[in-house]
Amino acid sequence: MDNQDLRKAGLKVTLPRVKILQQLESSESRHLSAEDIYKALMEAGEDVGLATVYRVLTQFEQAGIVLRHNFEGGSAVFELADEGHHDHMVCTETGEVIEFVDEEIEKRQKMIADKHGYDIVDHALVLYVKPKRK
Ligand SMILES: [Zn+2]
Repeated sequence: MDNQDLRKAGLKVTLPRVKILQQLESSESRHLSAEDIYKALMEAGEDVGLATVYRVLTQFEQAGIVLRHNFEGGSAVFELADEGHHDHMVCTETGEVIEFVDEEIEKRQKMIADKHGYDIVDHALVLYVKPKRK
């Protein structure tokens, strides 16, 4: 993802857009809320307001650059749409988001849709989890 990708997505290259894209790419966590991005930018000394972060993320979502997830019990999180399909687990205690792919689940879902006479267009599976107690 670079300035070229912004242009390809039909977005003008502006400083806030570039800075927010960089945050999404360089952050340790692949799943970030608007507040996470806003705080990281502030800490880096960037003068980008929270309203701008929200607006740019919505533009990115409409342009297909990011995916928005509305997980229960937290604010929406965003991730770059550059990865292949995967599902998510959300820890109900820490809010941590864990990605996973399971071929069996993928296959079963296709079979179920097929049995009902449908093709899957898209799906999202979220498991809400808590750490195992020893
Ligand atoms: Zn993800």
